[in-house]
Amino acid sequence: MLVIKVGGAAGVNLNEVCNDLAVLAQSGRSFVVVHGGSDETNRMAERLGMPPRFVTSPSGFTSRFTDRETLEVFAMVTAGKINTLFVEALQRRGVNALGLSGVDGRLLIAHRKEAVRSVEDGKVRLLHGDHTGTITEVNTGLLGLLIDSGYVPVVAPLALSPEGVALNVDADRAAAVIAAAVCAECLILLTNVPGLMRHFPDETTLIPHLDRDQLGEALGCSMGRMKKKVLGAVEALDHGVRQVVLSDGRVEQPVRRALSGAGTVIG
Ligand code: ADP
Repeated sequence: MLVIKVGGAAGVNLNEVCNDLAVLAQSGRSFVVVHGGSDETNRMAERLGMPPRFVTSPSGFTSRFTDRETLEVFAMVTAGKINTLFVEALQRRGVNALGLSGVDGRLLIAHRKEAVRSVEDGKVRLLHGDHTGTITEVNTGLLGLLIDSGYVPVVAPLALSPEGVALNVDADRAAAVIAAAVCAECLILLTNVPGLMRHFPDETTLIPHLDRDQLGEALGCSMGRMKKKVLGAVEALDHGVRQVVLSDGRVEQPVRRALSGAGTVIG
């Protein structure tokens, strides 16, 4: 079993990814696909006249503040357009893909952050009304049902709070918890860089391999948006996934390259 997360960052080659997934499916391998959507959501929100409000947490993460209206745009773009077109592309290649988000059948349950902390002008402020969450439960039975019936689940990163409120969740971490839930031997995170670089953007500093016990040290480095992937990797490895590969989604045969060790192999 594999879990493949396909990033939404510019440059990721969806055609090549889907060609490769079709080969994988033909060879009889089971897998789950998870995709992102925040970049396209930001573009759509701007087109709709909703400029993004970014918050920077005290630990340095920057993310879009997700009020209810933004959550609705996120659902429209991510669970609507991106998910449907991904499923279409796989179906066109003979893969029996089935699209769903974490809201469907309570696939993903997440803890909603009551308030998010934001650093503004050097001061920490509390912002209420955010619609993001941290996944606490995966409906493994539902995924098993789909996989055992021959479907390839394609998951959009939304989740439900226990009270039934839809939330935006981080796609890398969604992929990590799903990988753990389905006992995947490998989690592949495809993005628009060759892997984790010690000194980004110098590609000659690509880190080919990191052991689980080197990850704490790696987390201390400055790695911007890569940090969530490394946190996802830690989560997956701690829950029994043997290997996580951060790899290039812009190249030919991106999934098979990742499986052969191209990129940053963690574990
Ligand atoms: P995705 O949309 O695929 O999930 P993100 O945009 O969230 O990807 O994260 C990938 C980005 O992380 C890269 O495009 C790169 O700009 C940035 N990045 C920051 N630091 C590093 C680093 N040390 N190594 C690799 N990429 C890095």
